[in-house]
Amino acid sequence: MHDNDFTKILGWPGYRVYQHEIDEAAKTLRLWVCRKRGNRKLICSGCGRKFSDAHDFREREVRDLPWGEYRTTVIIEVYRVCCPQCGVRVEKVPQLPSKAPFSKRFEEAVGLACESASVRQVARQFRLAASTVRAIDLRYLKRWSATRHKAPLAQMGVDEIYFGKQMKFITVVSNLDTGEPLWFGQDRKQETLDEFFRTQLNATQRKRVEAACVDMWQPFTNSIEQWAQNCRIVYDKFHILQHANKAIDEVRRAEFFRKGGRMRGVVKGKRWLLLTRWVNLEGKKRQQLNDLFALNRRVMKAYLLKESLERLWTYRYEGAMLRYLQSWIDELRWQRLAPFQKLAQMLVDHLNGILNYCRTKVRFGVVEAINGNIKTILRRGRGYKKLAYLLLKAQRMAVTKTEFIVLQKAA
Ligand SMILES: [Zn+2]
Repeated sequence: MHDNDFTKILGWPGYRVYQHEIDEAAKTLRLWVCRKRGNRKLICSGCGRKFSDAHDFREREVRDLPWGEYRTTVIIEVYRVCCPQCGVRVEKVPQLPSKAPFSKRFEEAVGLACESASVRQVARQFRLAASTVRAIDLRYLKRWSATRHKAPLAQMGVDEIYFGKQMKFITVVSNLDTGEPLWFGQDRKQETLDEFFRTQLNATQRKRVEAACVDMWQPFTNSIEQWAQNCRIVYDKFHILQHANKAIDEVRRAEFFRKGGRMRGVVKGKRWLLLTRWVNLEGKKRQQLNDLFALNRRVMKAYLLKESLERLWTYRYEGAMLRYLQSWIDELRWQRLAPFQKLAQMLVDHLNGILNYCRTKVRFGVVEAINGNIKTILRRGRGYKKLAYLLLKAQRMAVTKTEFIVLQKAA
């Protein structure tokens, strides 16, 4: 094989292979490349200015994609230019995206692998250290983020995620239209969200935020009211239903302890049944619930209340929504279901933000989906000490998932 053939297979635009070395025992391939004749312009990596003369050069070794079983190293001459603006600077080489000893397409292969596997698995696959894989992945994501279009923020979601004992709570701000997370902040205070508005949006952008989908968490509401005057607060349906789930769980536990004896056996292990919606239960499970209800009317009543609350968001007009909520609260009378009375009070206290759904439609479920994505990423591997890395990772995941759904629809 001639060096010409090596040049073709390597396929680095503007470079040719002038020397190679194959080690069959070690299964390594080393390729020395230099610029092709037509490729003489040097570009300053600082400002992009073009030069025809080099200041000096040095050799760099980078790992490239493997050739079959052969681990491939490319040795390349990298020039420095004497730039009037930047001083002596290294030239820009498209295949060398950073100072790390890897080619761009090698980093891309690692980054792509990191989208569907844990860092540990990728490290094993490429025979790299886990810390190296993480560094490559972060650069890969940063390059992707730098070139893409950022959508304007009209509807935002704000949520919190519990990160465990050390990090405690993280505030997650997302774009409901694109379904991607925009910003992470430490803690879940009013100041946390204030920081988002202060550092991530300018005055015009803040005015353009028309709706925010949030949980009934006062610090967030306060911050939004202070910073985004045109923003309507819409309390997230899924969060409200979570509160309803909590209420039914409290009822279940109270009945469990109150009744004792035989009742305990019936209620025991029914937690997930009670938290699952009726439509999602198969026949056998429904029967189990019915058996439970036959023994305990209070649990049944609580379950029906939880189930019927969801209908609240099927109304398009405030008046109708309000009437439905009123009738739902009326159902509670004489039931002595304290957790649900507490929930009803909470709904009344946050009435405006519930009715706002009739005034501004927001996509419920986006916040939940983003939350789920972040948890998936965290489950796949720890080591996200840098929130910026986790954010990029979650953004990339949101975008690739959307692409996947679009592809499925097209097919
Ligand atoms: Zn320059």
